[in-house]
Amino acid sequence: MSLTVFTHADCALHRPPDGHPERPQRLEAALRGIEQIDDHRRLDATPIDRAQLLLAHGPNYLANLANLDASGSTMALDADTHLGPRSLEAAALAAGAACQAVDRVVKHPGERAFAVVRPPGHHAESARAMGFCLYNNIAVAALHAISTHGMQRVAVCDFDVHHGNGTEAILAGNEKCLFFSSHQSPLYPGTGNPAAPHASNVHNATLPAGSGSNEFRDLWLEHLLPEVERFRPQLILVSAGFDGHWRDPLAQLQLKDEDYYWIGEQLKALAIQHADGRLIASLEGGYDLKALEESVLAFGEGIE
Ligand SMILES: [Zn+2]
Repeated sequence: MSLTVFTHADCALHRPPDGHPERPQRLEAALRGIEQIDDHRRLDATPIDRAQLLLAHGPNYLANLANLDASGSTMALDADTHLGPRSLEAAALAAGAACQAVDRVVKHPGERAFAVVRPPGHHAESARAMGFCLYNNIAVAALHAISTHGMQRVAVCDFDVHHGNGTEAILAGNEKCLFFSSHQSPLYPGTGNPAAPHASNVHNATLPAGSGSNEFRDLWLEHLLPEVERFRPQLILVSAGFDGHWRDPLAQLQLKDEDYYWIGEQLKALAIQHADGRLIASLEGGYDLKALEESVLAFGEGIE
């Protein structure tokens, strides 16, 4: 059994207002996908330590969130990011799951781990909640791998349809990390221009609206996977967002379930080649429930 899923029912406690696409039902849909994977183990996530959050987030930001949370009502942090009375419990479990996934594969080489959680994380910056994200789960996990496990080369691969601006901003200039992102452009949040990289450890590649399987696979094969390979990562982290699916309401790519199997398999092959098989993924976007279920299943089978 080489796939461990970290999740927690309390990830559903983060409740944006009715009608918000990043809704608690996403967790159930993703877990329905996981249940169809033949061979996996499922473990309860535990909340992250404040010390680990401080690897990626400023103390003032964490204090401000905690103070807001104490007020007991749901409030808007920006146009689409909300904080409710129990949102920080869910967020602490989401970031905790990503770090526990890292711990798992470090302890058990040859395994993969998948944090099936919400809220997502890749838009959250060091001192700013953004784009449905409160804590940057994957950036915290990358910095945890470096600080706790002494990793020297960590690759963070982000195939969510949106650019992982928060992850890029937090990891930019960190020579122990390389950040790779494919995303639709133009699209929210408007960052991730390949011609103007934030730092030398950042590799962005974009797809126009309407792009499908061939364009997505060619982009990774020609521009991103060769750079991951050249880096010879000791650990591969994946921001696994499934909102590039053709059914997704928030973007206009035309990806299919099998494209998520494909990218999972490609990244797993690189992990086996360079990283003793160590790969972890953390759930980011994906807002059509049926597409999310099927994409999580396909990707999970790809990395299994
Ligand atoms: Zn997204």
